[in-house]
Amino acid sequence: MVATLKAGNSPRAVALRADMDALPIVEETGLPYASAEPGKMHACGHDGHTAILLGAARHLARTRRFDGTVHLVFQPAEEILLDSGAKRMIEDGLFERFPCEAIFGLHNQPGYPAGNFMFCGGAFMAACDTVDVVIDGYGGHAARPHLAVDPTVIGSQLVMALQTVVSRSVDPMQAAVVTVGSFNAGAVANVIPGSAHLQVSVRSFDTQTRKLIEARIRTLAKAHADAHSARVEIDYVPGYPVLVNSRKETDLALAVARELVGEHRVISDFAPFAGSEDFAYYLQEKPGCFLRLGNGEHSCTLHNASYDFNDDNLTVGAAYWTRLVEQFLPLQQ
Ligand SMILES: [Zn+2]
Ligand SMILES: [Zn+2]
Repeated sequence: MVATLKAGNSPRAVALRADMDALPIVEETGLPYASAEPGKMHACGHDGHTAILLGAARHLARTRRFDGTVHLVFQPAEEILLDSGAKRMIEDGLFERFPCEAIFGLHNQPGYPAGNFMFCGGAFMAACDTVDVVIDGYGGHAARPHLAVDPTVIGSQLVMALQTVVSRSVDPMQAAVVTVGSFNAGAVANVIPGSAHLQVSVRSFDTQTRKLIEARIRTLAKAHADAHSARVEIDYVPGYPVLVNSRKETDLALAVARELVGEHRVISDFAPFAGSEDFAYYLQEKPGCFLRLGNGEHSCTLHNASYDFNDDNLTVGAAYWTRLVEQFLPLQQ
């Protein structure tokens, strides 16, 4: 859902995004306002992000101390990894139907004081891809390996070869992760299985590195299968892209936070991390900034059954969006 607020005559426009979806977790907070739906929990605080943007919308609609257009983007399905809400809204023509110069979003951050803001210019969150590798050999009797093509041995060599992707092929100044999270082959000791199945998770912070890793995984898997007369099928499933905050918009977002809560409650050089977020799709289309808002130093981690969004952030979050709009679309003097 997109709501639009206009004030004054300026043709300029900005978008603010909140995510809305929950997770398939049984809530264990025991709070009076805990989820009433078993197996559906706001364990990432997206209900809080939506409440913050609604608060800002109400305040901006009343005060209208800006000149231009604000699009309030309420996005579903951030957590689903494939064909997510951001991607689908863009495919539905979000930026053609609601043109804007820049887009901003925020996410709560456990482990940091409530009302504290964190910013990271440039590559902030990782691209996250998944690779399915199926090695088709030829099954047979454990005592007659010369009549079989053993996919377990080929898969084992491939697991070790994949360790060279980051250590030998990626520029050492780039961060990346290649993890074989699953390796399944065979069921009993006296049978050589017909196939082996590997699932690989890939994280990267740079488009070139991401392409390089995909190419290396394909080459190594094919070469190992070829070397043993096996066949290999590779399904490389791209997840969310790298989330890259643009410099100018990050500087503005940072200045607004400093003015609102003071220098001591703002971290301007927050470290990138290997989580991923579909706000990255918007930032491929428009400049903007995705920032973090502390959820409390003792807050439970995101996606935990005991997580609770810190309601102290509702006011400061709404005030922040309001100030950002007023700064981005200033009244003409
Ligand atoms: Zn989440
Ligand atoms: Zn989230």
